[in-house]
Amino acid sequence: MSDKRGRLKACSRCGSLRIRAFSLREGGVPGASELAGMYYCERCKRRVMPIVFDDEKAYRKFLKERKRKAL
Ligand SMILES: [Zn+2]
Repeated sequence: MSDKRGRLKACSRCGSLRIRAFSLREGGVPGASELAGMYYCERCKRRVMPIVFDDEKAYRKFLKERKRKAL
């Protein structure tokens, strides 16, 4: 998920970009959910806090460091 400025939002748990703001059906409030930082990760299948990256480079760096930590 990325916005107009090219920033990326990723799941803080698994690093996936497949996150989205809660929909109304899921108990979210349009607009407000996003502001409150309530996102749903398709991979974790749960509510997560997103990490915002300025660009893809910053995101890749995060992935790299995450991998290193797991080893
Ligand atoms: Zn996740």
